[in-house]
Amino acid sequence: MKICRFLDPETQRPRFGMIEDGALYALAGELSEENLSVEGKEPVARLEDARLLAPVEPSKVVCVGRNYKEHAAELGNAMPAEPLLFLKAPSAIVGHGDAIELPGQSERVEHEGELGVVIGRKCRNVDEDEDPLSYVLGYTCVNDVTARDLQRKDVQFTRAKSFDTFCPVGPYFVTGLDPTDLSVETRVNGEVRQSGRTSAMAFPVPFLIRYISKVMTLNPGDLIATGTPAGVGPLLDGDTVEVEVEGVGTLRNQVKSLKK
Ligand code: MG
Repeated sequence: MKICRFLDPETQRPRFGMIEDGALYALAGELSEENLSVEGKEPVARLEDARLLAPVEPSKVVCVGRNYKEHAAELGNAMPAEPLLFLKAPSAIVGHGDAIELPGQSERVEHEGELGVVIGRKCRNVDEDEDPLSYVLGYTCVNDVTARDLQRKDVQFTRAKSFDTFCPVGPYFVTGLDPTDLSVETRVNGEVRQSGRTSAMAFPVPFLIRYISKVMTLNPGDLIATGTPAGVGPLLDGDTVEVEVEGVGTLRNQVKSLKK
């Protein structure tokens, strides 16, 4: 099932929807697969006419640094022995089609295309005999946009990763997907910049969920950005950047400079 959030054309309020055959059906209920049900038999809009919003409103975005060996190497970093976690401010989230704004404080903003994991139920201290993937509601595309110069300067990542618009997510998320071996590709103006497979992750999705759950409670709708393959590079004013995850779809955003 493809689940999105969209602006209801009648009420102008955000709500969940299901996408099928180019049509959008309204969903009723809370954010979990058991609780979401299709409301009415008729679609509320054609997908192309709908205003899609970021598909989740997480309480936090948990990111994983250096989860692909070639990416760690390209930035001159060693691979961590354990997942390297950091947080991105939820206020950085934007949806498919929204602008990524280049702030005046940075001279070097880069794309990081990633597989995003959407949590479906409260998750804390996942046991060894439990399947961590049973806590997943779906998978999406994330662009972990990064002010690379500020990341280096600040040492810790908060500012570099959390400017408004630095977390494009979407266009929707897909349930029932196997995250083990999916291609993750990032294109800028149609040119392939990053191309990897999730099978190359040092710490795969189940490992990450169990590991994070032993640090912090994951809530329904929380988002995990699972790390980026090699090939990160600059985003410039006017660029179009796309992140495509196999089995999900393509997240597309335009880049806009805020510099005067
Ligand atoms: Mg990243």
